[in-house]
Amino acid sequence: MTSVLPLPPTHYRVTLLDSHAHLFEVACTVEQPDAEGQRFRLPVWIPGSYLIREFARNVVAIRAESGDMPVGLDKEAKDTWRAAPCVGPLTVTMHVYAHELSVRTAYLDQTRAYFNGASVFLCPDGRAAAPCIVDIARPADPRQARWQVATSLPRDDAPAWGFGRYRASGYDELIDHPVEIGAFAVVSFDAGGATHDMAITGRQRADLPRLARDLARVCQWQCDLFGGAPGSRAPFDRYLFLVTAVGDGYGGLEHRNSTSLLCKRDGLPQPGADAIADDYLSFLGLASHEYFHSWMVKRIKPAAFTPYDLARENYTRQLWAFEGITSYYDDLALVRSGVVAPDRYLELVGRMVTNVLRTPGRQVQSVAESSFDAWIKFYRPDENTPNAVVSYYAKGALVALALDLELRRRGTSLDALMRVLWQRHGAHGSGVPEGGIARIAADISGSNLDEFFARYVDGVDDPPLAELLAHVGVTLTRRAAADAKDRGGTPPPPNAKAKTWLGAKWPPAGELKLQYVFAGGPAARAGLAANDVVIAVDGLRAAPEMLQTLCERRVAGETVGITAFRRDELMSFDVTLDAAPLDTAWLALDPQAAAPEVQRRVQWLGS
Ligand code: ZN
Repeated sequence: MTSVLPLPPTHYRVTLLDSHAHLFEVACTVEQPDAEGQRFRLPVWIPGSYLIREFARNVVAIRAESGDMPVGLDKEAKDTWRAAPCVGPLTVTMHVYAHELSVRTAYLDQTRAYFNGASVFLCPDGRAAAPCIVDIARPADPRQARWQVATSLPRDDAPAWGFGRYRASGYDELIDHPVEIGAFAVVSFDAGGATHDMAITGRQRADLPRLARDLARVCQWQCDLFGGAPGSRAPFDRYLFLVTAVGDGYGGLEHRNSTSLLCKRDGLPQPGADAIADDYLSFLGLASHEYFHSWMVKRIKPAAFTPYDLARENYTRQLWAFEGITSYYDDLALVRSGVVAPDRYLELVGRMVTNVLRTPGRQVQSVAESSFDAWIKFYRPDENTPNAVVSYYAKGALVALALDLELRRRGTSLDALMRVLWQRHGAHGSGVPEGGIARIAADISGSNLDEFFARYVDGVDDPPLAELLAHVGVTLTRRAAADAKDRGGTPPPPNAKAKTWLGAKWPPAGELKLQYVFAGGPAARAGLAANDVVIAVDGLRAAPEMLQTLCERRVAGETVGITAFRRDELMSFDVTLDAAPLDTAWLALDPQAAAPEVQRRVQWLGS
């Protein structure tokens, strides 16, 4: 018989050291260090964002002490330090540079402080399971006297929204609760029997009651989806949205009981506006997306993430499901909860289809491969990305839509699949094995879906959306893009002009440097390359609007002479224009749909 003694807690202390130099001071104390010399590591990535970010690169100073005595500290690897053997307690103190406006890292200036634990908390080797105590020190600067703390970390002696002591059951939990410190606005609502708070940082004058009303419906709908009945409970007692509103920005990162969102301040609802503006719709979609992750990827996880290995890449072919299904439900939740009308939802789907149709990489890479290679491809885009990479978010969402409609044809639905996933893997914390989603789809439909997964998940075929949507009384129509701003989702505007296509993307103003040259298109065939700077077309000085006009006025098959600089060398190209491709999609409720289709549509969209 052996008895396992509980590990003593690891103690952290966070101080806002210097807001002008953007430095946090973070101390980590181990009561009983490893007798061989205690090792400490910093994660190289943060769960939810599949890129090696090397958080240790922002450590600008580090030292170790035992009592008042300095202790030797060896740097053993890019992310690892080892203290000389000593009797405890042993404290390692770092100064961490934090000046990245991102939901994934850390930030400190005179307006606010923000951190993710992966950026600032060392993990002592062998102590990942030890409970953690975190003291967040009140800043001494009187100009920061009104600052508060917003985090979903469980409070110990800290008052609500206050400085003081927080705790976590282990390192994995410790780094899954980002912390916002500053003078933020707060709005609260209830959903799923849980308190939901939103702390909004940044200058804004949004209609907060409106925001709370809309989000409460979306959140309750998601609780009901997984719970299987109206009024279902959330899998937490409290949820926190940390929102940073800026002039321009967009991003979100999911956590088990919270999310960090970066948004345009115009994306928040404006007082007196009844209609849902495009920017607000996009904010609601983002908040809905990250909230859905509370189930899908934070509690229902790929087996490859149980547990996370924070020292290296964690490979899975399932991000198409964990991000794609989430991207499908984020907007679907808006229509199913009654926050937006079906036609507005179909416009969003049309834009997603358009986005994928304009990606030649969808014919090169499957969403399963895109998932596996996220670390080196999707998260590291370059000028060839559209030709070689498919987004497991965008195409993943279309595969999820197709799977939902296919399952509905077979008498079940993706909703049912989500509930099985939750019961089998979420509630108990067992990871979803590779291929697990396909097996559940086969189980609940009682049919063989191997071909579906082979073609659309592991293969590069486009899912047959037009045919599947017809079954629920929705039409999908493809057309040419009207102009460079046309994102799809709508019928062609009456003044649509573009007839031909150059097969390249260029900036709307300024220097005419080609951003992308699409594989197989006219520019690529003529030998133009990304980063070529176009200076003349048929002997006349080129400008961005001129290329657009060219596509409107010339006919397919015509050849134009393009002069461009490649680096500092002048080159000429004869480009034979193609007819504009039908790469723009729009969906509509089919007015001719028969009663069974309409009935299925109501079951799908909920209204
Ligand atoms: Zn996501």
